[in-house]
Amino acid sequence: MNEDTNALVHDVVIVGSGVAGLSAAVYAARADFEPLVLEGPEPGGQLTLTTDVENFLGFPEGVGGMELIQRGKEQAERFGAEFVHGTVEDATLNDRPFKLALSNGKTLRTRALLIATGASARWVGADGEDELMGYGVSTCATCDGAFHRGDDVLVIGGGDSAMEEALFLTKFADSVTIVHRRDELRASEVMAERARNHDAISFRWNTELLEIQGSQDEGVTGATLVSHPDGYPKQKLETNAAHGGVADQAAKTRDVGEVERETVDIGGIFYGVGHVPNTDFLEETPVELADTGHVETREGMTTKTTVEGVFAAGDVMDPDYRQAITSAGTGSMAALDAEDWLEQQTVRGAAATSEAIADD
Ligand code: NAP
Repeated sequence: MNEDTNALVHDVVIVGSGVAGLSAAVYAARADFEPLVLEGPEPGGQLTLTTDVENFLGFPEGVGGMELIQRGKEQAERFGAEFVHGTVEDATLNDRPFKLALSNGKTLRTRALLIATGASARWVGADGEDELMGYGVSTCATCDGAFHRGDDVLVIGGGDSAMEEALFLTKFADSVTIVHRRDELRASEVMAERARNHDAISFRWNTELLEIQGSQDEGVTGATLVSHPDGYPKQKLETNAAHGGVADQAAKTRDVGEVERETVDIGGIFYGVGHVPNTDFLEETPVELADTGHVETREGMTTKTTVEGVFAAGDVMDPDYRQAITSAGTGSMAALDAEDWLEQQTVRGAAATSEAIADD
């Protein structure tokens, strides 16, 4: 990257190097825009935390998430994409070219901006998680599973991520209990079936994690679970607390109504409760965000945001599909939309110049 970043205006900067950012980079690079790709705090995005990807077209035997990302990066570099580490702290999108202030103190300027910052693991909100995250509580079985050889562990969640985490953890843990807040899984049938059929995996239905016991020295030693026959026990706790005029914190420490409470001895807790889009840096900008935090794109099949010249792709704009293959798809769409927009700007710029010459 040019050190004198203020002097250089890029055509395309892509924020994020997950599958959406990489796919955008391949397309933008092949169109000769020499895109600059910013690799943020989790280079390669969520796929780097996945084991096998079985549903990406063209890999009948499946492919490792990390391998897919590495190959995508090589492909983008082959066509001229440049990768640098950097997290956007502040984006000025009212003026053109757009200005991006990075956490390393540098500033970038770009004509078109592609947002592909993906989403990060959601936390459950259990007491003790702030202190113990990374000390026995984890959002990534692939990263931390091996620390739990011989342990009894919990996996929180009922979607594909939770099933995948649980299945992976059976390689190390003695037992894996999936804790789900209602009695029906959200996971796809194929993943749910694999988890149900595994001897080392059991389920706790209508149950939630209230509190985690342990310390940073000892790791996780136990967990307090709450359950209710109708599901969503924490909500019931809160409702009971509100009706009984009991402060929430007090309600958490005792049985309330029909909500049952149990403390179990365990050695690790894995969260698989979904993700939240990484859009904090856009909050003060004119790029419209949905209530869920996702970047709003205009109606129809487009990656155009509410700001001309700013495009979004992948999990940061997609609350519904969230697949590697759909992220790759919207990544390529964003690059094509940006290309089209940049070309229109050039045509308009050229027309304005010739009008000015004619006026002279
Ligand atoms: P998800 O489908 O949104 O599932 C999140 C799960 O966590 C839901 O069961 C939800 O419960 C539960 N949950 C959410 N917040 C919670 C909280 N505060 N406390 C307790 N439970 C909570 O997310 P995901 O599993 O990460 O999957 C995201 C997308 O990636 C999906 O499209 C999925 O198909 C895909 N994916 C695919 C694979 C694969 O095919 N191998 C692997 C991973 C992910 P409710 O059900 O009650 O809402």
